[in-house]
Amino acid sequence: MNIPFVDLKNQYHSIKEEVNNAIFSCLENTSFVGGKTIQKFETEFAEFLSIKYCVGCANGTDAIELALKVANIGKGDEVIVPAYSWISTSEAVSTVGANPVFVDIHPEYYTIDFSKIEEKITSRTKAIIPVHFYGLPVDMDSIIQLAKKYNLVVIEDCAQAHGAEYKGKKVGTFGDLACFSFYPGKNLGAYGDAGAVVTNNKDLAEKVRMIANHGQIGKHNHIVEGRNSRLDTLQAAILSVKLRYLDKWTNQRIINGNLYIKKLKNVDVITPILPNNMKHVFHIFAVQVNNRDNIMKGLKEKGIGVALHYPVALPFLKPYLHLEFTANDYPVAHAFSQKLLSLPMYPELTEEEIEYVCQSLKEELE
Ligand SMILES: *Cc1c(COP(=O)(O)O)cnc(C)c1O
Repeated sequence: MNIPFVDLKNQYHSIKEEVNNAIFSCLENTSFVGGKTIQKFETEFAEFLSIKYCVGCANGTDAIELALKVANIGKGDEVIVPAYSWISTSEAVSTVGANPVFVDIHPEYYTIDFSKIEEKITSRTKAIIPVHFYGLPVDMDSIIQLAKKYNLVVIEDCAQAHGAEYKGKKVGTFGDLACFSFYPGKNLGAYGDAGAVVTNNKDLAEKVRMIANHGQIGKHNHIVEGRNSRLDTLQAAILSVKLRYLDKWTNQRIINGNLYIKKLKNVDVITPILPNNMKHVFHIFAVQVNNRDNIMKGLKEKGIGVALHYPVALPFLKPYLHLEFTANDYPVAHAFSQKLLSLPMYPELTEEEIEYVCQSLKEELE
């Protein structure tokens, strides 16, 4: 059996007519940057989250950068980030001139380890970026409480967690600002790069829009030097169509995640935990497995698309080597970079395919 790691074609075919119509309508209107299509998606996505403002931008990395900028984070400031994430989380911090401060991750949740944050806070710490990693929410009550105590800005990185919920509320609605990526492989993916910043704060939302559009408020009225990081109109049109299916697709991911967990019960791997007060949306379904690299090779030979998220923890990537961290500084993130293996995960996976993956994994471990 051949099972890819992600399968975007199947999903496109299931909504082909609607997507094609949306694209052709932009082409007919020669509407490529800005316009009503953008506003429509922004309004719909804000409604989906139950938040007041959504500002589209070029990608999820820019979303984090824009959020940091409007929060006045810059040179000399420190920003707390998890030691295990995609590089965008720390990269955006450096791009605005601030310094990312890595905190190890929790050995069961894989998200930032709350008990290790406080010891990293200094007089220069200005913000914290919790990442809802793999689709599992961070314990936001604890984060918000800590942020209040130290007067920190909270910027949620929701790139892997569209529709995930903490205590019945969607992630992205807890922080001062939150950032989404609509990279094609994300749970809500465009057909190119796209992103958004969301917030309940009108002033911050307006600033994000201004900076993402060359610092303008109205044509030729430049208040500051900004960026060009607008959401592409074609992508907004596609995202509006896909947003209508997001709940259905998320439910299917959850069904698939639970099937994996059930079928892997007696297999020698550790599956994700599902805390009661959180809705995990399974962007990634990763298992902890010993001898990972050999198992990965074996599964690939059996036609199974497996992947690593991520093979190197952030503090040990080349751009951060000058900080001279050792594995002892981030033991959990370091260990998991060698143990976690991502199995195929997308809404369209069938039970038969999941069964094949689980059986194959079992065989490889014997
Ligand atoms: C994908 C991702 C981003 C960045 O999104 P892009 O749209 O690819 O720039 C940021 N943070 C995390 C955790 C991600 O997975």
